[in-house]
Amino acid sequence: MIIVMKKSADKEQLAAVEAKISELGYQPHVIYGETRNVIGAVGEERGKEKLQILQSMAGVDNVVPILKPYKLASLEVQQEPSTIEIVPGLTIGGKEFIVGAGPCAVETREQICETAVAVKAAGARMLRGGAFKPRTSPYSFQGMEEEGLKLLAEARELTGLPIVTEVVNPRDVELVARYADVMQVGARNTQNFALLKMLGQLDKPILLKRGMATTIQEFLMSAEYILSEGNRRVILCERGIRTFETATRNTLDLSAIPVLKQQTHLPVVIDPSHGTGHSALVPAMCYAAAAAGADGLLVEVHPCPENATSDGPQSLRPDDFAAMMNKLRRFVDVCERTMAG
Ligand code: PEP
Ligand code: MN
Repeated sequence: MIIVMKKSADKEQLAAVEAKISELGYQPHVIYGETRNVIGAVGEERGKEKLQILQSMAGVDNVVPILKPYKLASLEVQQEPSTIEIVPGLTIGGKEFIVGAGPCAVETREQICETAVAVKAAGARMLRGGAFKPRTSPYSFQGMEEEGLKLLAEARELTGLPIVTEVVNPRDVELVARYADVMQVGARNTQNFALLKMLGQLDKPILLKRGMATTIQEFLMSAEYILSEGNRRVILCERGIRTFETATRNTLDLSAIPVLKQQTHLPVVIDPSHGTGHSALVPAMCYAAAAAGADGLLVEVHPCPENATSDGPQSLRPDDFAAMMNKLRRFVDVCERTMAG
């Protein structure tokens, strides 16, 4: 249920309604709006009618059911887009189009530092790089683990770029959170509900990728797992889905951008690297993502793709990334957004 407070409602009235929601066995989530505040009361669907009694409390304007199965993620609860603070001074979901870039996996100090410097110079605002890699084969490189996290932290020190890195296993959440600015949930973990619940308890932004066989509704339900635990900083990432097509590694669902924008206030970024699997196809998808209304991109860049331990064929060289960024600015401009650099 959504409890819409009156414009005139004061702090005490808000607190009293929150307390009553808890007493009725539901969780209150306050969304502070420009003109009025609303409280999302989430919990068991059966019996939620009892929340109607809140209607008679002081300061309450209206009590309305949330029709979508995802509640806190829905536009019903919050109409304005969420602007999410990645680190102080950097937000996503607002006017600025945010590009995160870096290698698939952290390999060496030189590799991650050289990439960080290059992507920053080209206008990237975040550095990506996997230290824990969810590989299809158990015989493939699994990542440098904590050593990789340390190298990412060095690259952050060098460039000031915040780090986006994946946590694969619930047991590593605490370790990864010690280094990461943004915790990435990979496509193979979109419905790892135990992991999502743990991430919901962190005070850190989460970049949640869409699973390769997840519908948009299921994707939003996964976001809901994080939100319902209290973490509001969820960034959605479309990275391609499995279809019968073999010309590309995945089929990048760019229509997910306007669909998500109709359903949710959460920011949406596009990963054109996993979305296509081929570096030559990446720039076109970057431009298309900006044109379709995405809030940003996550792009794989490697100083020497032919030697990459993973995802070399889809990684841009730094100079190709810089050229893409220059052209991207024109699309971002047409969409009345801004870009750094
Ligand atoms: C990655 O970002 O390198 C990655 C493994 O992505 P995905 O989970 O989308 O396959
Ligand atoms: Mn990758």
